[in-house]
Amino acid sequence: MTIQADSPGGALPDAIVVGGGIAGCLAALFLARGGMKVTVLEADSVGSHASGFAFGGLGPLDGSGIPDPLLDFSVWCFNRHQTIHEELREDTGIDTQFHLRDRLNLAFTEDEAKNLRSDLEWQSRVPGFRVEWLDAAEAVKAEPRTNPDCAGAACAQGTGAVEAYRYNLAAAQAAEKHGAGMVQRRVTGLLGEGGRCRGVKLETGELEAGVVVLAGGPWVGGMSAWCGVEIPVRPLKGQIIRLQLRENPMVASLNYRGSYAASKPDGLIWAGTTEEEAGFDEETTGAGRDKVMGDLLMMAPSLAEAELVQQTACLRPLSADGMPVVGKVPGWDNLYVVTGGGRKGILWSTGMCAGAADLVLRGESGVPGLEHLAVERFKGA
Ligand SMILES: Cc1cc2nc3c(=O)[nH]c(=O)nc-3n(C[C@H](O)[C@H](O)[C@H](O)COP(=O)(O)OP(=O)(O)OC[C@H]3O[C@@H](n4cnc5c(N)ncnc54)[C@H](O)[C@@H]3O)c2cc1C
Repeated sequence: MTIQADSPGGALPDAIVVGGGIAGCLAALFLARGGMKVTVLEADSVGSHASGFAFGGLGPLDGSGIPDPLLDFSVWCFNRHQTIHEELREDTGIDTQFHLRDRLNLAFTEDEAKNLRSDLEWQSRVPGFRVEWLDAAEAVKAEPRTNPDCAGAACAQGTGAVEAYRYNLAAAQAAEKHGAGMVQRRVTGLLGEGGRCRGVKLETGELEAGVVVLAGGPWVGGMSAWCGVEIPVRPLKGQIIRLQLRENPMVASLNYRGSYAASKPDGLIWAGTTEEEAGFDEETTGAGRDKVMGDLLMMAPSLAEAELVQQTACLRPLSADGMPVVGKVPGWDNLYVVTGGGRKGILWSTGMCAGAADLVLRGESGVPGLEHLAVERFKGA
């Protein structure tokens, strides 16, 4: 979606949200539902970075900070996905293609199998999911593309997936339906002094508002200089390939050591990924493709027959400890941040944005685990 490039003009907003990825658009929706007049300022277009190209897996039982201290937060986020997509469809007519899908975490060595099995002990106590250990033959039965030479798999039932770009677009359009404005502008700084933020500086002009929310993904790290507070978020590049398969789509997602593959509603197999410290470079590379392809063929050798049709690269916003950054910026009365979703920013978007909007609107939130996400945790680190 291209944001209208007309002047922000008109009545001043109550809140400015900087960034039109999922963090910015969903935060804008929740603020607008809370009665605020919101303007989202996006330098490029909605979903034109990580939020529009993510794999869209919703796996709350593993990842940074899980189980301690983020399991409750992560499960809350997943449960909110079970309701938000119907709300978005009612508001916008967009089907975000949220669906439940089994997830197999493969092991190829006895040590990997031991680690996965030990996680099953606490995972089996999480309400709403069914987890079990499958031997290689059972894993192949659950997902016929599975490498039969694997040492088994931890299977999680009840996890899900969504189409990330549709989700971002739906959040943006729902925010608009609730009165938010989407404006294509690059923010270049903050207006304010004495801990009170008056608005933002633009490439041409400025825009005032009562509250500013920084949701600029990996670019928030560079916004630290505007705030005078270090917000340690950096880009972590990831690449995905999409493959055309003539028949027998995958029924479950396969995962191995941070890589994954699944059939998506567009009929293609999506496979990822890389973790590259490459600054703000968003170009695809042959090395990235080969790494993803190597992991894919390890998980599912029969996919060698699939035809590569697309390759994408984008930047995850990764905080210094891998967990989201949500809350008021220290030293400011009315400046907030919502970023740092890292590899789980689509999953965690529901809790991050509900929490950020609650803090703006009421100064407190019932989203569990939000206290672990405050900017203050990096002080002196
Ligand atoms: C390959 C890959 C696969 C992924 N797979 C998954 C997955 O399966 N599940 C999952 O949960 N997560 C996944 N993620 C992570 C997820 O995509 C991100 O964590 C999430 O999209 C980040 O959203 P965001 O809104 O914070 O940032 P972004 O999507 O980067 O949005 C930030 C926006 O801010 C704008 N902006 C920046 N600076 C300014 C400025 N000065 N003025 C105005 N606008 C500005 C940018 O143009 C951008 O549009 C994946 C990521 C990658 C890279």
